Amino acid sequence: MAESTIFDLSIAGRKGVTFPEPDVPATSLPKGFVREKLQLPELSEMQVVRHFTSISQKNYAIDLGFYPLGSCTMKYNPKINEAVSRLPGFTATHPHMPVESVQGNLYLMYSLQEMLKEIAGFAAVTLQPAAGAHGELVGTLIIHKYHKDRGDHKRTRMLIPDSAHGTNPASSAMLGFEVVSLPSDPRGNVDLVALRELCDENLAGLMFTNPNTLGLFDENVCEVVKIVHEAGGLVYGDGANMNALLGVLRPGDVGIDILHFNLHKTFSTPHGGGGPGSGPVAVAKHLVDYLPDPLVGIVEEGDEENAPLYGFIHPAKSIGRIKSFNGHFGMHIRAFTYISMLGKEGLRDVAEKAVLNANYLQQKLKGTYTLPYDRPCMHEFVLEGFWKDVPGIHALDIAKRLMDYNFHPPTNYFPLIVHEALMIEPTETETKETLDRFADAMLKIAEEARTNPALLHDAPHNTPVRRCDELKAAKDLIFCCYPVGELDENK
Ligand SMILES: *Cc1c(COP(=O)(O)O)cnc(C)c1O
Repeated sequence: MAESTIFDLSIAGRKGVTFPEPDVPATSLPKGFVREKLQLPELSEMQVVRHFTSISQKNYAIDLGFYPLGSCTMKYNPKINEAVSRLPGFTATHPHMPVESVQGNLYLMYSLQEMLKEIAGFAAVTLQPAAGAHGELVGTLIIHKYHKDRGDHKRTRMLIPDSAHGTNPASSAMLGFEVVSLPSDPRGNVDLVALRELCDENLAGLMFTNPNTLGLFDENVCEVVKIVHEAGGLVYGDGANMNALLGVLRPGDVGIDILHFNLHKTFSTPHGGGGPGSGPVAVAKHLVDYLPDPLVGIVEEGDEENAPLYGFIHPAKSIGRIKSFNGHFGMHIRAFTYISMLGKEGLRDVAEKAVLNANYLQQKLKGTYTLPYDRPCMHEFVLEGFWKDVPGIHALDIAKRLMDYNFHPPTNYFPLIVHEALMIEPTETETKETLDRFADAMLKIAEEARTNPALLHDAPHNTPVRRCDELKAAKDLIFCCYPVGELDENK
């Protein structure tokens, strides 16, 4: 069924806007600047409002309901973040303005750098990267340049645990590192025997996620870091999900060399349709000179009467600029607001509640669902989405059936080391009642899988789009951004 687009509704000559009379003399635009054939839909204001309101209601969002998408941290995005980011003092500025005229913006970026340094225990932070994966690219560029500068040209091997997010091997491979997968041990930690075997003079580094994507804290973190450092490698920390660590453990304190944050996960800036993202990168003292150019810094110290002058500073051995201007400033405002609102105690409270909520759900569901790594979890946990005695039911069926109960499905089929994985991250912002309703739905679905499996196979039943043909969607991509009329012309 093809959804009607706003172009289908168009009637020639219908109008939605009346422009005010111009208060300057009319003049015509230079030739070539107006696209004569530009096809725009012609509708009334009400039609436009109804069209967009109706499609917005077909979407699922954190503002509508529970969104336990593991690894993605779909926590509530406080509205005060939006209010602050819309202050005219921010929206009416431009990155080309002289630094003296945008001291407020620079102060905010400088402060956010300082806050992230303090939260994670590092010496410096760049706010440039546009997302987590972009932060990883910055980290791997730094690892690459660090070894090169030391004449250590043999170091081409990057170790990546088999539970890692797919962006880790992708970022390493982009720079030409040889990606070697590191097995997990039966407790879900990095296998130390395998790690030792792979740590030699060819080692560039390890990309390490802790808590890992099984939602487990690697208890050997200090040993892992020590083994890599003794072999001359660097440890990259994937800090996309810092929820469980806020105010509890600082990755820099246990020897991690580089770490990226996802402001759009841990620090409540919008994502999943609302972005853009932001993936600041922190480094330890020995890597400060390699950070992207420029950083925001104090260029003139203040005194009792004068505030310091903020401006740009240029790391000596920088990997270069990796983003236009200073990254996604709108997201820096939101994260700064979030951290400022919470304060030190508030951040720790986030971590404690995120971990508590995940363990609460884990305990309610384990037994009915198989918990492959059976120990207390951090901010998320992974279940198996199948039962040996219930043929033909897959994690996907459970995920789709959850939509009938008005829940966003958990992440599924990731991490890869759990068969039919269902990865559940409730986040700290949900109430006990919501967690209970979700657990009830999961338990009911487990019962339905046995008594009426068709309910699962045919799900979802009430969504605007039912089950998609995922194979066709992947193999037969149609990128459509043309007005329908233009597409037809091309047929
Ligand atoms: C989300 C995530 C990433 C990638 O972040 P993006 O902003 O989506 O590029 C990397 N690692 C982990 C563990 C993640 O959860």
